[in-house]
Amino acid sequence: MKTFANLVEEVQKPGRCRRCGGCVTFCAAINYGALTQDPDGTPRFNDPEKCIECGLCYMFCPVIGELEEEARRKALWQEPMGNVLGVTVARAKDTSVREIATDGGVLTALLLRLFDEGRIDGAVLARGSGPFSRRPFLATTRKDILEAAASFAGPPVARDLVGGRYATFAPAISALGEQMRQGLRRVACVGLPEQILTIRKMQVLGVVPTDSLYCLLGLFCSGHFEFGQSGRKRLEKLGGFAWADVEKINVKDALHIHVQSRGVITIPLEELDFMRRHACRFCTDYGAEYADLSCGGLGAEPGWTTVVTRTPLGRAILADAVQTVVEAYPEADNPRAGDQALEALEQRSEWKRARAVRDGESVGTGSVAAV
Ligand SMILES: Cc1cc2nc3c(=O)[nH]c(=O)nc-3n(C[C@H](O)[C@H](O)[C@H](O)COP(=O)(O)OP(=O)(O)OC[C@H]3O[C@@H](n4cnc5c(N)ncnc54)[C@H](O)[C@@H]3O)c2cc1C
Ligand code: SF4
Ligand code: SF4
Repeated sequence: MKTFANLVEEVQKPGRCRRCGGCVTFCAAINYGALTQDPDGTPRFNDPEKCIECGLCYMFCPVIGELEEEARRKALWQEPMGNVLGVTVARAKDTSVREIATDGGVLTALLLRLFDEGRIDGAVLARGSGPFSRRPFLATTRKDILEAAASFAGPPVARDLVGGRYATFAPAISALGEQMRQGLRRVACVGLPEQILTIRKMQVLGVVPTDSLYCLLGLFCSGHFEFGQSGRKRLEKLGGFAWADVEKINVKDALHIHVQSRGVITIPLEELDFMRRHACRFCTDYGAEYADLSCGGLGAEPGWTTVVTRTPLGRAILADAVQTVVEAYPEADNPRAGDQALEALEQRSEWKRARAVRDGESVGTGSVAAV
């Protein structure tokens, strides 16, 4: 039976740990206390003696191929980029939601609708904890859901520009422990592709509390970007802007930096490898392929969200939202909006997969199928 000690050798030491929190959350959730997580999300042994060698942490890890076939069946996954029942470009009807959202505010609108209708009693989300950094938490009120809207917001205040690290990632899975403590029975979970895969694997085994998750809402992902002071300087130089003037950053086809009085500065993702997390080089999932619904700004006009319907549950959630809180891109303005978004998603998914295969080979680690 492989255990956390094997994760250390096979995942952490080669720099492939994505700090998704899956291994620790499950272990901590059942009070074994064998594992703990550093502030930056890195898992480590807290007390190796308490490890009962059940092997579950190893099986859930998204970098490891275990349970992947079963997770694929559960998510109706198919080649080349997961199940796609439809692609819709949409935005929240409520302009006050759109104003605070990352793209079209579809996720926030959906979550509010599910909450108001009593179909969920909470949601695992991430909210701002400083400039361009977020912390996972369990939202249990409308106010919580609204506070968590947007992925990366600014502007940073002056003291935030000195020192500190900016990071786009938040280990959302760790908020599942809180879900269990509070005993919520119907919870939505928003997460990055690798987090959704980990949860699908947990669902395969019916592990508590994933049996209480109502739906999995995925975010498209090109990678996790983190940067300290020298990285910020390099980015300022690349884009010709000053951090003090940044209002918002957004990742889509490129990095879009909204700068006061200058509009949007765009930097190609290919130029950002210096701030992309090493482990993301081996990740093949762009479109949150194991989710019920996946969302991103890619392929949509600014202020709109591309939504991929992947499961019958996702289809039902979106169909209800389109009748109530969300509006689809007007067909009269562009009847091909959904098709164009799908094409953009196909291209980006292929781009990410090809890079992961290339990088996996170039470091001599063999297959990337484990992702
Ligand atoms: C690290 C990261 C990388 C991304 N990369 C891309 C990309 O390459 N291409 C692309 O098209 N889109 C990407 N996205 C998704 C995009 O930024 C938007 O979140 C998505 O388009 C939904 O927009 P919205 O306006 O509908 O969502 P909103 O209404 O703004 O809601 C966003 C929801 O996501 C939750 N959330 C935000 N950050 C996190 C996080 N780190 N972990 C878990 N939940 C979170 C918030 O709590 C909120 O509920 C990325 C998001 C993240 C967090
Ligand atoms: S990728 Fe996730 S599950 Fe795997 S070792 Fe890292 S934190 Fe644990
Ligand atoms: S690319 Fe995105 S989903 Fe993949 S490991 Fe990095 S942050 Fe996670």
